[in-house]
This record gives sequence, structure tokens and C-alpha cells, in this order.
Amino acid sequence: MTSAQPSRPVQFNDVSASYAELRDAIHAAMDEVLRRGDFINGQAITRFEQAFATYTNSAACAGCANGTSALELALKAAGIKPGDEVITTPMTFIATSEAITLAGATPVFADISPQTLNLDAAAVEKAITPRTRAILFVHLHGNPGGSIECAEIARRHDLLFIEDCAQAHGARLPDGSHVGNLGTASTYSFFPAKNLGAFGDAGAVCSNNTDLIARVRRIANHGRKDKYVHLEEGTNARMDTLQAAILHAKLSALDSHVDQRNQIASQYADGLKSLPLRLQPAPDGCRHAWHLFTVRTPRRDELQNHLATHGIQTGIHYPIPLHLQPAYENRNLQGRFPVAEQTARETLSLPMYPQLPRHDIIHVIDAIQSFFR
Ligand SMILES: *Cc1c(COP(=O)(O)O)cnc(C)c1O
Repeated sequence: MTSAQPSRPVQFNDVSASYAELRDAIHAAMDEVLRRGDFINGQAITRFEQAFATYTNSAACAGCANGTSALELALKAAGIKPGDEVITTPMTFIATSEAITLAGATPVFADISPQTLNLDAAAVEKAITPRTRAILFVHLHGNPGGSIECAEIARRHDLLFIEDCAQAHGARLPDGSHVGNLGTASTYSFFPAKNLGAFGDAGAVCSNNTDLIARVRRIANHGRKDKYVHLEEGTNARMDTLQAAILHAKLSALDSHVDQRNQIASQYADGLKSLPLRLQPAPDGCRHAWHLFTVRTPRRDELQNHLATHGIQTGIHYPIPLHLQPAYENRNLQGRFPVAEQTARETLSLPMYPQLPRHDIIHVIDAIQSFFR
């Protein structure tokens, strides 16, 4: 062992660290909502939506209940309907493909790139059929790699392009623009563990098409024109005012938190560079959001156990690619997306959160080095 065993485990994530840092602002924001009592469609929602649209460089934003409903609402508001096919990645959380089905369409998987672990542009192009209506691109782990190429394919084939940015708050393209502006719309999750996390469930859709955002708002609020007039059947997928107030208070720290994630990622990358591990840096000029820092090795399970014995928590995102989930068993897709399957066997996520202490980072690097020695 090269460094002393810490007295407490190295935590994979610590959502209370950001709370401790921003406690006064969060309490003031919550207190204002509690005093006003506008718990549904309250003032703090509009304030957060405007601030988040500005942050993500989009014309408009609609808050909603969670990241899954954000995807479903974005797809429906964009006009996705039964019979349509939507191409997406098998290396993501199931919410991505679930939302396609919830919108009435069929998810069609295409393999990922071994460099970025995001949808591979050539594989996407091969998956296009006459029924394809959209590409749903996921910025996995916060890496925008490959998004520009996939958006170009969508443009060439006259398809909608929707970006699942649930892991990519703070990620930017080489021109400095925030991810989510390459096509039709983008969606966010504010699940507590995400780069910008609520104290419960919340999500948002952003777009440069203000009509689309108005449709999202309408569907998320029972198809309402006003209190008693419903233009269509929608659903209840609204964001809570209390969550909006909390998110608005936390948004001011998001950029510095993403900077801290980038600093941690460079320390990991530097400490691990001579080891037989594969990393997924962002392409040149892009700002990675580093929701997760992952390494790949064929000895993943052994490495995970080794780190556990050194008191280090890790995660696997994701151990089963979607096309091999029991939910999609009837499609018989085993072996069809070899890069996703190999990634599922080899990927390991290291501790990552903005306040991760420096001695924890060093302990993780030392423990991984001792594994390969
Ligand atoms: C977290 C996540 C979602 C779902 O968000 P919820 O807020 O939990 O519904 C969707 N897509 C991806 C890629 C995610 O990581």
C-alpha cells in the first residue's frame, strides 16, 4: 500500500457538500417560496427558466418534473408520433429509450464510438430507415464528443436532433457555446446526483424554438390554454416551485463546480497516464462537464474489488447496455453493438464531485497504481 488508508471511505459522490457550501442562499430561496406559498407554477420557476436558458445559450427553457419527462415532452413537442423511429445509444440510462417509447415511437439503437463512448456517426447513418424521424444524442458522462458529427447527419437526412444533456450541464463546444444548441431541443435532469442537482426530482427542456418550448409547457400542464380551457390532453409533468428556487440558488455555483470537476479530471488523467487504462477525454477545444470520470480495463471487476479494499467507492455506468436489458430481450440484439458491450464489461467510474478532497484524489491514484504494479 502506497498511501495510508483513510479513516473514512473515499465517497463516490457527496450531494451534501454543495448544500453545505451554498446553505444560506438555498435557505433564503426556500424561505421565500414558503412565505409566498406559490408552490405550483410559482415565481421562482420563471426566474430559474430564464437563468438556465441564459446559462445554456438557448432562447427558452421550460422546467418540468424530471429528466425522463423532459425527454418525453421534448420528443412529443417536436412532433414525434407512433410509427416513428428514433435512433439512440445503447450506452445510457434507460430513461433515454423509455422516453422514445413513451412518446409512442420506437427506439432504434446504434453502436458507440470507442473514443467518446457516445453515438458513432457512421453507425447512426447506417441505422437510418424511411421511418427514422430523429436522432437522440446523449452526451455521456458530460462528454460532447461526436455531437457535431451526429447533428450534421441529422441535417443531411432532414431528421430532428435532440440532445439528452442530463449528464452535461456546463459542457461546451469548441465555439464556446453550451451543448444542446445543435438541433431541435435539449433536455436536462436535475436528479440530486447530477452536475446541477435539486433536492428531489426536476428536469428541463431548452430550445432555440420558442414555439416548441410553449408546447412543452402546455403538455406538461394538462394541455392548458388557461385555468379552465384545455387545448389538448397533456399530463402533469410540472417542476415544483421549491425545486426551481433551490436550483436557481445552486446555478450560480455551477460553472465553478464544473471547473473543479475539470481540475479533478486532469489530476486523474495525469496520475493514470502511464497505466494500461483507456480514458475518454473531450475532443480538442470542447469543455467536458465531467459528470463522471471513467476508466476502461479488461480487469475492471478485479480493479473495482481492489479499490473497495482500499476504502474507495466506485460505480459502473453502465454494466448492461440497453439492448441487452431484459426490457428489450425480445429484440434479440445480442452481439449487434460490440463497442457498447465491451464498454459495459470494462468501464469503471471513479469518485467525482466538485469538493472531492485532494488527499482522496491522491489516494485513488495511488491505489490504482498499486493495482497495476
Ligand atoms: C439521469 C438521466 C436521465 C433521467 O433523468 P431523471 O431526472 O432521473 O428522470 C436521462 N438520461 C440520462 C443520460 C441520465 O443520466
